[in-house]
Amino acid sequence: MEKKVPSIKTPLPGPEAQKVLALDRQFISPSYTRDYPMVAKRGEGVGVEDVDGNVFLDFAAGIAVVSTGHCHPDVVRAIQRQAETLIHMSGTDFYYPLLVQLAEKMAAITPGKFPKRVVFGNSGTEAIEAAIKMARYHTKRHRLIAFMGAFHGRTLGALSLTASKPVQRRGFGPLLSGVAHAPYPNPYRCPAGHRAPECLCDWVCTEFIENQLFRTAVPPDEVAAIVVEPIQGEGGYIVPPPSFLVKLRQMADRYGILLIFDEVQCGMGRTGKMWACEHSGVVPDILVTAKGIASGLPLGVAVARAELMDWGPGAHASTFGGNPVACAAALETIRLLEEKYVANAARMGEYIMGRLADWPHKHPLVGQVRGRGLMIGIELVKNQETREPDPEARHKVIERAFHQGLLVLGCGESTVRLMPPLIIEREHADIALEILDACLSEVEK
Ligand code: PLP
Repeated sequence: MEKKVPSIKTPLPGPEAQKVLALDRQFISPSYTRDYPMVAKRGEGVGVEDVDGNVFLDFAAGIAVVSTGHCHPDVVRAIQRQAETLIHMSGTDFYYPLLVQLAEKMAAITPGKFPKRVVFGNSGTEAIEAAIKMARYHTKRHRLIAFMGAFHGRTLGALSLTASKPVQRRGFGPLLSGVAHAPYPNPYRCPAGHRAPECLCDWVCTEFIENQLFRTAVPPDEVAAIVVEPIQGEGGYIVPPPSFLVKLRQMADRYGILLIFDEVQCGMGRTGKMWACEHSGVVPDILVTAKGIASGLPLGVAVARAELMDWGPGAHASTFGGNPVACAAALETIRLLEEKYVANAARMGEYIMGRLADWPHKHPLVGQVRGRGLMIGIELVKNQETREPDPEARHKVIERAFHQGLLVLGCGESTVRLMPPLIIEREHADIALEILDACLSEVEK
């Protein structure tokens, strides 16, 4: 992008953006959630230009999707080459090399040294559906355990696991039966009232499953799977204590339950390792990913222990899932992530966390800064003692940042999430943090 990033030239939304917004109001489903009127025209690297020529620094990355930045030239070339050769064939009924090449690669880069198989879809929610169906089919059990605050998608099976905001579920019931939700361990809001570092919240959460759910409402021998985000995304960028996944693994093994990790948002290098679960060394039975896998093309993947896919032809498939163009983009994305961008996410995450370390002292609005790699949350509170969330302040900060040329989104009740493309450099981080710093100070006034 030739223009400086960011550079804002018109009042926002500008005249061209207003035309699009008018049509959007007329034709697009009102169920979409937009925090501010950003109307994109083109993207390059960490920059996005809108239809009026304003340029934004993108710390939202299409909700953690453009892992290699906007229109990475190598990814664009891979897409162009593939589009000129074969756009679609349908892996459900035919064969093509890219499908097996990507499956082999996914089996190699996911945790666990055992034979694996892969099933493809087009989105996170579809990959979760595949995992749910596979777990039920293989175990011949129907129940599932998920967590409060979880987001696993919006199709009806995945929505039954999602428990992030009431609006996502209201009006759509009855959902899948047999789903129970347990508290997710949040050291900042420990369910036992402890305060870090002596927090026992992961113990409280696993105790809840074993000593309450399993002894009252949920026979463990009917539970097919525990589905969990290793770092909760939409629920607030919550990093659980490292022992949490270890305890879940032990519990799952005790009762013959499958452990499914939803790495749709926290996977593909975002946390400074290829998979968020690698930070705790725990290996799932099924790993689900999407978002950052193909730098913007639609692709969802569930990678499972090979023996779990004991279903036969026709049991599960998708016309578009694993489309050749998406596979080509994914293989190129993974090559770039492995070569340099996962390491960059670790490095830049450390740099940003270092710069944010004193914000809870400097800014009365900042309750906690947390995260791993380039999955960073800044939780805003009305009062640092009571830790009461401040969603209004969060909205104001995000909106002001937009007017200063920085794109960020919220998550949880009152957290600002930073999830830039994994290619960012120090100067981008410095600009973003300066803008956020100023916006926080303004809102604090
Ligand atoms: N799982 C997680 C952890 C997510 O963050 C999301 C989307 O935000 C999904 C699943 C659903 O993905 P999609 O929107 O691609 O269906």
